[in-house]
Amino acid sequence: MLFNEFRNEKLSALGFGAMRLPLLSDGTIDQDELDRMVDAAIAAGVNYFDTAHPYHGGKSEVCLGKSLSRYPRERWNLADKFPGHQNVKGVRPLVPAEVFEEQLRRCGVEYFDFYLLHNVNENSLASYYGNPENRFLEYFLEQKEKGRIRHLGFSCHAAPEGLKQFLALYGGHMEFCQIQLNYVDWTLQDAKTKVDILRQAGIPVWVMEPVRGGRLAAFDGETEARLRTLRPHDSIPAWAFRWLRTVPQPTMILSGMSSLAQMEDNLKTFSTHEPLNGEELRELEKIAARLCSMIPCTGCRYCCAGCPMGLDIPLLLSMANDMAVSDSFNTVARYTALGPGKGAGACIGCGQCSAACPQKIDVPEQMKKLDALMSAHKSWEEICRERAAEIEKKQA
Ligand code: SF4
Ligand code: SF4
Repeated sequence: MLFNEFRNEKLSALGFGAMRLPLLSDGTIDQDELDRMVDAAIAAGVNYFDTAHPYHGGKSEVCLGKSLSRYPRERWNLADKFPGHQNVKGVRPLVPAEVFEEQLRRCGVEYFDFYLLHNVNENSLASYYGNPENRFLEYFLEQKEKGRIRHLGFSCHAAPEGLKQFLALYGGHMEFCQIQLNYVDWTLQDAKTKVDILRQAGIPVWVMEPVRGGRLAAFDGETEARLRTLRPHDSIPAWAFRWLRTVPQPTMILSGMSSLAQMEDNLKTFSTHEPLNGEELRELEKIAARLCSMIPCTGCRYCCAGCPMGLDIPLLLSMANDMAVSDSFNTVARYTALGPGKGAGACIGCGQCSAACPQKIDVPEQMKKLDALMSAHKSWEEICRERAAEIEKKQA
């Protein structure tokens, strides 16, 4: 196992994400398979396990805690997260003490090694620091003082500007930040800029979605054949992990694994340090370029000044590309945060933008498609309410 240093501790470079655990046919978590996966991980040196309050309707915390309890506490680090992003209208307001005590109880632990403010994004920024009555940060700093949290950090799906806003207020207290990072989101979600911002702030990077929820784990025949010709003994996900070990070099790479076979494949990838060579890197860049440019907007903004509705056209097109790679509720969150009159539905089809566009993009057509896609999608509030209801139902 490869390891990285974090505040004089040795963390396995691969972390076990408990977001997509193996399931039985009735939809409940397969505890036996999970135990086998945890056994294989610990035997190989993995010492970081990551769960969150909403994962599997709250059962991820219970099942992961149960599985880890078979090993001495000092063999593993447990990370959990405070779901401040679900503090939306229509959901019971979150009381940090209630949630935190419940999480400790569910996981069967007396402290968390790592604790994160979950999913800082354009919609949840207000929940985290907009309301002085929340006092989220103060509460978790107190828990840290008491030794019930060893390291405090946050996970972030916001665009670079949102990340900067959060850091300006809370950055001094944050020890690490988890972002969505892979060779497609390096440009598609501007992860490169986020990594730079975090580096400048001296905050180590944790990676989530290294294979973008499975989107980078399998390709069409030609792409897959090309990768297999270059590295016949490697799986397709191994390419994504090796890219992460080559380019931004994060401290922790989390993978949400669903089977022992996936676990074993990842353990093999993280057993040796094999950075991509130039040819391999170019191959992934080609794949990324293809996935990112289904609408070939370069972000030049020549179209923006003439838009009578004041729409951020390149931003909307990047969201359309993002949703085309794989459906993402975080993109829905960012879209919702644009507010009334700033979504694709506000486009009046005047065509000024297309006339100004060097790429000859049919912007009005793309706006129509994006509006239809987002209108048919569940809203951010609905998603949060459903998840909160699922947790309450499973607790009952
Ligand atoms: S077509 Fe739509 S996006 Fe383009 S300039 Fe007109 S209103 Fe703005
Ligand atoms: S002019 Fe065309 S390429 Fe440039 S930002 Fe606008 S849509 Fe994108």
